[in-house]
Amino acid sequence: MEKYKIRKSREYNKKIQKYLPGGEHYNFRAFAQERPIHFVKGAGSRLWDMDGNEYLDLYCKYGAMILGHNHPRYNEALKKRIDGVTCVNKSDIELDILEMINRFMPAVEMMRFGLSGTEIVQNAIRLARAYTGKNRFIRFTGHYHGSADNVVGGVANDLLFPVPKEHPGEPRGTEGRAKGALETQSFLLQWNNPGLLENIIHKYHDDIAAILTEPICLNGGGIMPRPGYLKKMRDLCDQYNIALIFDEVITGFRVGLSGAQGYFGIEPDITTLGKALASGLPVSMIGGKRKVMELYDERRVMHAGTFNGYALGLEGVKASLDILSDDGGKRYDEMAGFAQKFAEMISVAAKKAGLPMVVQGCRGVPIFHCCERPEDTIEAFDESTFMKDSVIADCLLAYGIMVAPVSRMYMNVTINDDDVAFFKSRVDDAMKDAAEIINELSE
Ligand code: PMP
Repeated sequence: MEKYKIRKSREYNKKIQKYLPGGEHYNFRAFAQERPIHFVKGAGSRLWDMDGNEYLDLYCKYGAMILGHNHPRYNEALKKRIDGVTCVNKSDIELDILEMINRFMPAVEMMRFGLSGTEIVQNAIRLARAYTGKNRFIRFTGHYHGSADNVVGGVANDLLFPVPKEHPGEPRGTEGRAKGALETQSFLLQWNNPGLLENIIHKYHDDIAAILTEPICLNGGGIMPRPGYLKKMRDLCDQYNIALIFDEVITGFRVGLSGAQGYFGIEPDITTLGKALASGLPVSMIGGKRKVMELYDERRVMHAGTFNGYALGLEGVKASLDILSDDGGKRYDEMAGFAQKFAEMISVAAKKAGLPMVVQGCRGVPIFHCCERPEDTIEAFDESTFMKDSVIADCLLAYGIMVAPVSRMYMNVTINDDDVAFFKSRVDDAMKDAAEIINELSE
């Protein structure tokens, strides 16, 4: 099969670069866009670009589009809401979703809404500090919690006092950070290392307000927590008056209706949600134990935002949760079944092309890596693995298969056997091209 031509998209992208830095709305230092594709239409798992090419969308806007594009029931609900009231401080839709989220996630006894994951994680850190009266939070290498100064990037070289510091060339580093934002606010530890966590907490618990973690590390390679690791976090938090924050911005309503906390049976003190919560509309949530969340009610901690709780976004939440919870959440099992098929297809194609391949991750997000065996810390991956993964992702894209950064293949509820056939008919060509490039690079 021929690689897609994207002449119109390229020309268009050149024009916008005069006004839009880099021609994109999002940038890490690590990757530049080889193929600036501009889309005009979406339906289910498919997208069409300006040149008329059709894509299988396993990118799902960083995992947000869990209902796929243009889901009829979702669109219908939003249209009704648009004809009613879209943007007010309080509307008639709150009770439904408050009760629903609390039913799915009992640890979310109370909650508030915002717009982005970045913003809601900052609110979680503030709340944890207010609740415990302490300052630092523990975060982990390979995890992502938004683009704010205090949570992004840094490298901690001193194992005994692991404060993150700016590191030249680090992909998540940035100029323009406020002085001290890295060094004075957090400790940065290797994840999935219970001994290290315990040592640091024993030593510095007087200064530690929170553990901030993705319960499944989906930004750092698709790594499951080792058995007992999240429980260890819970126990240490209980022992030392530390707030446990599960950042479920990806995992919430993606691994299941009860998120990763339900999947593992561990209750955090504070939960953050975003992405799949409203299936493409900007809505995020901070929720948690009543004793923590009541700090808002007592006006001791501030939480504000012009658009917080806007009715259209909350309608998006309601429609999403209604659809996702149909038939007791059967769709999650279906998505997991399809995830398995995509994992198998990419493994077979890699084998044919002579490349090693493993697929890890979790239900709803299989993540491929061009290496010999799965890893359970980000540090264990060979440095070249992520580069090879991104070569494969670029080659897939040239044949109409779009995966998300860090080689994530996000499932959505509309995914079906046609999508499997689409993938199957293109993956061999893509993998052959990738093998050529990877072999050249390795010579
Ligand atoms: N937390 C996690 C776990 C995320 O994956 C992300 C986004 N990738 C964020 C927070 C930040 O969310 P947003 O991009 O909506 O600010």
